[in-house]
Amino acid sequence: MGQAIDGKAVAAALRGRVGAAAGDFAARAGRRLGLDVVLVGDDAASQVYVRNKARACEEAGMRGEVHRLPATTSQAEVIALVRALGARDDVDGILVQLPLPKHVDEAAVLDAVDPAKDVDGFHPLNGGALLAGAPSLVPCTPMGCMRLLDHAGVALEGARAVVIGRSNIVGKPMALLLLQRSATVTIAHSRTRDLARLCAEADVLVAAVGRPRLVRGDWVKPGAAVIDVGINRDAEGKLVGDVAFDEAIARAAWVTPVPGGVGPMTIACLLENTLRAAWRRRGLPPGELVL
Ligand code: NDP
Repeated sequence: MGQAIDGKAVAAALRGRVGAAAGDFAARAGRRLGLDVVLVGDDAASQVYVRNKARACEEAGMRGEVHRLPATTSQAEVIALVRALGARDDVDGILVQLPLPKHVDEAAVLDAVDPAKDVDGFHPLNGGALLAGAPSLVPCTPMGCMRLLDHAGVALEGARAVVIGRSNIVGKPMALLLLQRSATVTIAHSRTRDLARLCAEADVLVAAVGRPRLVRGDWVKPGAAVIDVGINRDAEGKLVGDVAFDEAIARAAWVTPVPGGVGPMTIACLLENTLRAAWRRRGLPPGELVL
């Protein structure tokens, strides 16, 4: 029987460390760290996410501000706001909440985010840096997954890793981060053949799919570490991951639960990225970036 990785506890500890560093920053800079979130339209889930992000900032002693624009806002207006935030010295991090309304080109808006303040790590320059193995600002969810693997003490060098999902937000950056740590990585997706057999070879299995309980117990290699990124509702409306937790934990060494696994880490890593972005802009040496 394996163990659950308590993402809530790991995230709380990280938020505490970021909060202490944020206090130190405020004392030195004479102002609080600032994260500005741009929300266009009234998508219900997005409203909840941005509220949680702003609240987490305030709890960590940072300024968290949400800029709400109506769904009818033009692409040019969204880009103008993102650029204006980029030009403000008191803005350390900029996050554009996705999805954007259909008439707004997501790529064009993400391109307009100052790469030095791109705390989601979605700007092509930050994506390219990650690909080149010299990451600066890394997408928060895969960064949180790496933190959880490290917390559990999972050995990554030479390990066989399988990432299910190839989105730019989770799957691809996750695979690159594992590769950077010298795991042997396979990316699986909806056209992958014999997924169960592939997963059964994985020492590290990351599921970022969006299908409730897709990964069954017999897909899990005994002793593996299983990271469940999925957030789904099952037929009864209960929150479940992409992994059948009860089955997986009977074989794995480590499994992240849903809720209480990767989810809390995403926001904690967003705060960490805001701090990192501020430090970098001020030219602090990399040694200071260790939290
Ligand atoms: P996407 O929908 O962008 O990507 C899903 C990926 O899963 C695609 O690459 C798709 O393949 C693949 N896929 C779909 N069905 C199957 C299947 N049956 N077998 C194998 N692969 C399949 O989702 P995201 O990456 O944005 O998110 C994934 C999940 O993670 C969602 O549940 C989301 O809610 C959750 N999430 C959680 C976060 C957190 O903080 N915990 C943050 C972000 C996301 P193909 O490319 O071929 O279509």
